[in-house]
Amino acid sequence: MREVGCVDAAQGLETTFDLIFDLSKNCKFKDCKHTSEIGCAVLQAVDEGNLDAALYENYMKMGEKKHFESTVAERRKKDKSFGNMVKDYKNLKKNNRE
Ligand SMILES: [Zn+2]
Repeated sequence: MREVGCVDAAQGLETTFDLIFDLSKNCKFKDCKHTSEIGCAVLQAVDEGNLDAALYENYMKMGEKKHFESTVAERRKKDKSFGNMVKDYKNLKKNNRE
């Protein structure tokens, strides 16, 4: 027997992550952030009502927090490689336009 009440929330979140992870395999870009990318399967699912917008927002909030934490920690180490990152980003933008 399980206590349904509080397990539900945790399971819901896990399910959301699984769902979005599965969807993200169909995203056009491998490093898709699921925010405004063209060809993002996650955004499309929200759009079509296959994914609850509230679940998506939850996911994005968690993701942003994680991303922010790792960014702050890694920025100090990677300061020197920032120039290369900018170069890569410019190339990516150029490629996306083609
Ligand atoms: Zn995506």
